[in-house]
Amino acid sequence: MTAVAEKTNLLGMPKAKMEAFFESLGEKRFRATQVLQWIHQRGADDFDQMTNMSKVLRDKLKEVAEIRGPEVVYDESSKDGTRKWVMRMDNGNSVETVLIPDGERGTLCVSSQIGCSLDCTFCSTGKRGFNRNLTAAEIIGQVWVARKAFMPFAPGPDRPITNVVMMGMGEPLLNFDNVVDAMNLMMEDLAYGISKRRVTVSTSGVVPAIDRLGEVTDVSLAISLHAPNDELRNQLVPLNKKYPIAELLAATRRYLARLPDKRKATIEYTVIEGVNDQPEHARELAIVLRGLPCKINLIPFNPFPESDFRRPSMNATRRFQAVLNEAGYIATVRTTRGDDIDAACGQLVGRVDDRTKRSQRYIQVQQVSP
Ligand code: SAH
Ligand code: SF4
Repeated sequence: MTAVAEKTNLLGMPKAKMEAFFESLGEKRFRATQVLQWIHQRGADDFDQMTNMSKVLRDKLKEVAEIRGPEVVYDESSKDGTRKWVMRMDNGNSVETVLIPDGERGTLCVSSQIGCSLDCTFCSTGKRGFNRNLTAAEIIGQVWVARKAFMPFAPGPDRPITNVVMMGMGEPLLNFDNVVDAMNLMMEDLAYGISKRRVTVSTSGVVPAIDRLGEVTDVSLAISLHAPNDELRNQLVPLNKKYPIAELLAATRRYLARLPDKRKATIEYTVIEGVNDQPEHARELAIVLRGLPCKINLIPFNPFPESDFRRPSMNATRRFQAVLNEAGYIATVRTTRGDDIDAACGQLVGRVDDRTKRSQRYIQVQQVSP
C-alpha cells in the first residue's frame, strides 16, 4: 500500500503564504489572488468551481491541495437574532461560534483553542482544561462558515459580519501564529476585508505575547481584567501571579502607543456577586486605570453548573457602572444575548463536548432536522 501524502489545506493560508504555495508549484503568484477570492468571498470548497483557472491547473491543485472547513453539527438562531453554530473540528472536538447582530453591526465571536490551559475560576472553558490549539484553517473556518450562511450578498453596509472578537473558547495569545494568520485573512481585502479596528483580540494577560502582537499587527485589544488589585485577580485569573496587573497595563499602554491611530483598549470586567461587585472595587478600578485610554465593558457573570459563583443583580451592576461613569470612564454593561440557545458569554463551551448530554441534544437536533 502506498502512503497518501496529506493535502495542503488552503483555507487557513494568508496571502503571502498562498503566493509562496503557488510559486512552489511553479505557478504564477497572482493565482493566490484568485483562489483567496474564490474561497473566502464566494465560499468555494471545490477547485472545479474556480472557472477562471484552466482544467489542467485545477486538476493539479486537486492532487496536492484541498479546501476543508469545519463540519457544522448544529446551527440555530435565537429569538433576538443571535445565531450559533457548533462546528466539529475533529472526532472528539467541537467549538461554538456565535454571530450577534446589533443594528448595522454583526459581531462574530470566534474560538482559538479547544479548551484553555489558564483555568480562570469563573470560566467554563477553563474548567474543561486544555486540549489543543486550533489551526489557522479551523479559526478562519469559523468565519468562512458564518459568511457562507449569508451568501450570496453584496459587499456594503449590510454585510452580516462587520466585527470579529477572539472571545470564544481559548486564549488567543497562546496560539499566536495561527491566530495572527487567521486575523490577517479577516482583514485581507481579497478575503473578508474587515477593518483592523473591528478585529479584536481578547487576552487574559499574556504580557510577552502582547508585545509580540504589537510587532506584527495592529488589531484592537481587549484585556480581561476582572479585578482592581492583584490579591483578588490572583484568585480569579491564575495567570496574574506570573504577569501582575501593573505589568499587564504597562504592556497594554505599549501596545496602544504603537498603533498608528488613537484607539482605546477594552477592559473586560466580569462582575461576580459578592466577589468583585462592590462600589469600592469600582473606585479602586477607576484609580488603577487612570491615564489608560480605555473603555470598560462590564459582563454580568453567566452561571454554569460547575461554578458556585452567582450573577450579580442588575442594580449592583448599574451601581458599579455609575461609579466608573462618575470617575469619567466610558463603561457599558454587556447585555446577555442568545440566552435561549445558550450562546451567552461564558456558556460557549462545556456544552459542546461530545460526552455531555447537551451535545447529545445538538446531535439529535441535527439528525432530526431536514
Ligand atoms: N481567553 C480570552 C478570550 C476568551 S474569554 C480571555 O480570557 O480574554 C472571553 C471573555 O469572556 C473574557 O473576558 C472572559 O473573562 C469572559 N468570561 C468567561 N467566562 C465567563 C462567564 N462565566 N461569565 C461572564 N464572562 C465570562
Ligand atoms: Fe481561558 Fe479566557 Fe476562560 Fe481564562 S477566561 S480560562 S483565559 S478562555
